[in-house]
Amino acid sequence: MSNEVDAKTARERAKEIAEQRRAERRNRKRKCVLCGVEESDKTPFHAHPDGIGPACKDEMTCQARRATR
Ligand SMILES: [Zn+2]
Repeated sequence: MSNEVDAKTARERAKEIAEQRRAERRNRKRKCVLCGVEESDKTPFHAHPDGIGPACKDEMTCQARRATR
């Protein structure tokens, strides 16, 4: 009886962890709201001053990327 409960709890916990990891992966792959590039070490993001979402920290490269689209 208690084994069943433990198994259920473990399953539930595993599901929670999987969900957390999925959310983390989603957060890591943010895209710039202006040029659409994915966030990476080369293109660090910051919150856009206008509050429209994550955007490239480097505005020059962001603008250059937008111009080539
Ligand atoms: Zn950008």
